Amino acid sequence: MSAFMVRAGRSIRKIILWVALCAVALAIASPLLAWRTYELDRVECLSNLRRISEALLLYAQDHNGCLMPPDYSTPHGYRTWVDISRSYLGQRGLNTCPANPAPHCIQAIHHFPYPHSYALNKRFWNVFFKGPFPLDNLELADQTALLVESGPIRGRPAGKTCESLDFYWDTAWWPQAYPSPHNGKMNVVAADGHAVTLKVAHYASSHHNALYGRLGGRIFNWNGGHPNGDTGSAPYE
Ligand SMILES: [Zn+2]
Repeated sequence: MSAFMVRAGRSIRKIILWVALCAVALAIASPLLAWRTYELDRVECLSNLRRISEALLLYAQDHNGCLMPPDYSTPHGYRTWVDISRSYLGQRGLNTCPANPAPHCIQAIHHFPYPHSYALNKRFWNVFFKGPFPLDNLELADQTALLVESGPIRGRPAGKTCESLDFYWDTAWWPQAYPSPHNGKMNVVAADGHAVTLKVAHYASSHHNALYGRLGGRIFNWNGGHPNGDTGSAPYE
């Protein structure tokens, strides 16, 4: 074998070694990069929810401890809680989850523009009685959902306009309307302003109380029990 062929053989072995090392490095780095992106999106979304909840609670301070309706009709069309809370939000762009953006969505029932990724718990308005439910009357605010993730409703036919919901009722009522865009988990902020990432407990209605029941983790659709005081008994699932 000539000296040239020996040198060529060594060079080829070096190249193969480098390619193998690069492949191993890429295999290690790819899941780490994906995890980092997932974590950044999740944390940004949690921050959005905290900031929006602060705005809602500030609004409530100015309105006898009550929140605004999720949506309402005006002579100029429908408006939502987002429109009312805007003056309390010091920064634009907080209403979009980076993992679940809804830039061109319309509200799924009344079909007005709703390019946002979050929905307000419907129970704070016209559910237990007509008008708003005062936040001070809420016994377990840290266990009651204030805002959940909505964003584009999944499973719509291709080409159909993106639809989203501005109010939250129950994950089992319309599972496609309340996604879990963070690696199978959903971000939620409770009525005391603390935000968490949780695994939704009920995307189906069996063994689940749609009015009071558990959303996931230690967060419930309402209060962990009854709306006005029966917090001594076991919360509904
Ligand atoms: Zn999110």
